[in-house]
Amino acid sequence: MKRTRRLAVSTKATVNIRRLMRDLNAIGRIGIGDRGSVTRLVFSIKELRSRQLLIHLMRQAGLKIHIDAIGNIFGRFEGSDPRAPAVLAGSHLDTVIHGGKYDGPVGVIGALEAVRTINEHNIPVRSPLEVVCFVGEESSRFGFSTLGSSLVAGEVHPKDLTNAVDPQGTKLADVLSSLGIAQRNMQGLRRSPKSLKAYLELHIEQGPILETKGKRIGLVTSIAAPSRFKVIFKGQADHSGTTPMDMRKDALVAAAQLVEYIEKVCRKYASMAQGRVVGTVGAMKIEPGVINAVPGRTELSIDIRGTSAQSKNRVARMVKEQARTIARQRAIGVEVLNIREENPVPLDKRLLRVSRELCDEKGIDYEIMPSGAGHDAMQMAKITPAGMIFVPSKRGISHNPLEWTDPADIWLGAQLLMETMIRVANEKL
Ligand SMILES: [Zn+2]
Repeated sequence: MKRTRRLAVSTKATVNIRRLMRDLNAIGRIGIGDRGSVTRLVFSIKELRSRQLLIHLMRQAGLKIHIDAIGNIFGRFEGSDPRAPAVLAGSHLDTVIHGGKYDGPVGVIGALEAVRTINEHNIPVRSPLEVVCFVGEESSRFGFSTLGSSLVAGEVHPKDLTNAVDPQGTKLADVLSSLGIAQRNMQGLRRSPKSLKAYLELHIEQGPILETKGKRIGLVTSIAAPSRFKVIFKGQADHSGTTPMDMRKDALVAAAQLVEYIEKVCRKYASMAQGRVVGTVGAMKIEPGVINAVPGRTELSIDIRGTSAQSKNRVARMVKEQARTIARQRAIGVEVLNIREENPVPLDKRLLRVSRELCDEKGIDYEIMPSGAGHDAMQMAKITPAGMIFVPSKRGISHNPLEWTDPADIWLGAQLLMETMIRVANEKL
């Protein structure tokens, strides 16, 4: 299709901020708790209730609803060519424990509002548009993230899910069967890439970059992925009063050296050109962990992420090597246990260009940036061109009741999402 078919009308139609915020707040009241926190763990009554409300809103909007076997919801708006591949847009409605209102719902309700506006203004679109809500993006309950989108992308076999257990000891397999979800019905969830033209996700940034730079929109180039592993130092637990300093095998001092090394090496690889590597020791166990004993054993949980697989893997290798060096120098034991190894996912450059052109035309100040957090888009990118639009998070806070985004920024993000959807639905990528 030719570029000349650019639709002037699209720039005149604006998404309805009041309706958008009304529906976002209605979703946000489901699972509300202390200090305005929101808890909607996947497959909990509250999470199911939020999906029910979405179905109601989609029905009101006149969308044709399809719910697949795991519970992913697709609300379809037909374009002029019903055989054309669909432009999908959405995110998730489940949350972490004591999370906020916007992580996920901004993308689902933002996409719904985009389609409602397109419908009301009779904006012509060639491809069908589908609003999607993926099940279980957060790993908080079963330790398994992007559940629904992984199945849609064919990236996980239903059999791999059977061993997942929540902290209460409830098996995912039992939860699914109690909801009437048969494992055999989950085999065919993968969407054929031919049925899809693109996937777009509007999301809060969950980091401080946009606010710090005073930008209102982030256009995402790639999604960082973690290397996760444990390092266990095995020294010797001794009496803290009777063991001379030169005769100790202190596992915590070794751990401290490694923690400092991780900060140092990640800073070296922190620039965009170097792959934006970040490294964190988020948890540590100390044994025996009492005031009058030299620590005999420490276990560090390490998370290294980056947008370049090469830099991230190099840093992870260097950290493991350093752990062995420290252990050798201190004559103590060391063990490295790998937990998870994932590669960063690049998003589609053509989709980014469409949003970028729109920002340029409208004079919106944007930032081209990677995503440090995982999203459904990283699964969808495996079967269709995927793009993400970020809006600023106040003080970079998320997964927290203080999570907040200015409604004016949510509006701008939804508006840009809508206009991107219109162009993608009408033009050749
Ligand atoms: Zn999210």
